[in-house]
Amino acid sequence: RTSVVLFTCDLRLSDHPPLRAALRGGGRVVPLFVRDPAVDRVGFAAPNRLAFLADCLRDLDAGLRERGGRLVLREGDTVAEVCRVATEADADEVHMTGDVSTFAHLRERRLRQALQADGRRLYVHETVSTAVAPGAVTPAASDHFAVFTPYYRRWSEQGLRDVLDAPRTVGVPEQVDSAPLPERGDVSGVSPALRPGGETEGRRRLAAWLRSGVDAYEIRHDDLAGDATSRLSPHLHFGTLSPVEVVRRARGVGGAGAEAFVRQITWRDFNRQLLAARPEAATRDYRTRRDRWRGGRDAEADAEAWRQGRTGYPLVDAAMRQLRHEGWMHNRGRLLAASFLTKTLYVDWRVGARHFLDLLVDGDVANNQLNWQWVAGTGTDTRPNRVLNPVAQGKRFDPDGAYVRRWVEELADVEGGAVHEPWKLPARERSRTGYPEAMVSLAEGLERFKRARGQT
Ligand code: FAD
Repeated sequence: RTSVVLFTCDLRLSDHPPLRAALRGGGRVVPLFVRDPAVDRVGFAAPNRLAFLADCLRDLDAGLRERGGRLVLREGDTVAEVCRVATEADADEVHMTGDVSTFAHLRERRLRQALQADGRRLYVHETVSTAVAPGAVTPAASDHFAVFTPYYRRWSEQGLRDVLDAPRTVGVPEQVDSAPLPERGDVSGVSPALRPGGETEGRRRLAAWLRSGVDAYEIRHDDLAGDATSRLSPHLHFGTLSPVEVVRRARGVGGAGAEAFVRQITWRDFNRQLLAARPEAATRDYRTRRDRWRGGRDAEADAEAWRQGRTGYPLVDAAMRQLRHEGWMHNRGRLLAASFLTKTLYVDWRVGARHFLDLLVDGDVANNQLNWQWVAGTGTDTRPNRVLNPVAQGKRFDPDGAYVRRWVEELADVEGGAVHEPWKLPARERSRTGYPEAMVSLAEGLERFKRARGQT
């Protein structure tokens, strides 16, 4: 028996249920990845993710070769290519991972129909890119959870499936051709400090994190300068790590740090179950607020200053510059940068979400769009009117200013927490820095926000 395993957001060999199912009983497998131009057309193929993807595909191919196989890469429409490869290999089954975006739903439906017409079967496996499948737990009166805490409670009660070892051998039919694999160096516009991708690297990071990072997570996860989070998000996004395995191994470590870390990972599954039930929330307000999202200022000029990290608020600018340089931003930075854009500048959340998707290596439809909605107050935050103050956040999460000094070079010589309020520096010192003036007063921003939300 021969099967095609279509890899998408699951670029690994360990704990891979579709691969395991295809190999059962000694079956032969065509491990396939399709580089589909439709992904570019929906605006999802950004340089940082393409570079990371190139690392992932090369590592996957190397892992398959060690086991007697190889990765087949095709370019074109996914459905057409899968059908073509299935015909060439005379495969009667196709296995793939379930996914939650509108794009993924449509792809799956078209693929199922096309394969059926050819007399082949499609098997879609859940709990490959989530720990608990979307829709596996629901509240009494709805098809999805809209509030995190009850979701987390139910999620925690679910038994997780066993972790599967990587297969020892993978037999691939000879006759199937592959396009050359991409290289990271082929991609232009990549952030200078983008970290490497691939399952080997993901497993190395996970092991190091569980050994010497996770214990302190509960205490240190918001310490901006300490950079004390796992940085596993790109690996979870591309599926070079399995969420089931990450959760099981973290639970194995135990303690308050591991518990807080697992709780944070639950947000991934929460967002996925929400998007699976409401795919339109990727672009439309989940809760309509009838916001005008402008408030009289030039939204595009404001958004551009924000994108460039030149708002005049050091913590916001540090976070935005980290994003550009690394293709990644600390969660506390994401919260603040998003709150500043949507609630202080009063720019539509979609403008900010787009920019994040253009740069984030972990840029993910469910996590990005729904976190933006959460911050903007159109999503699932139960306190939709809270506004984060960049100065107060700086004093709390970067008390000695080290994070700002790392990213905002104009302020590199300003000592201690004073870096969060450059407008208080003596005039001569202030002008020597060349750092921009604050683009809007926080009080003015707050007034406008309250008026728009009908709170005054
Ligand atoms: P850790 O703190 O080590 O957390 C472990 C894992 O839990 C992460 O790798 C991630 O998979 C998951 N996780 C943590 N926080 C969240 C969260 N709030 N929502 C969902 N999952 C979470 N995360 C993405 O993966 N992709 C995105 O595109 C994305 N966009 C965001 C946009 C905004 C405006 C905000 C506020 C948050 C966004 N997040 C996104 C969530 C979060 O900021 C990142 O997952 C986290 O910063 C990644 O760093 P880490 O791996 O070190 O996280």
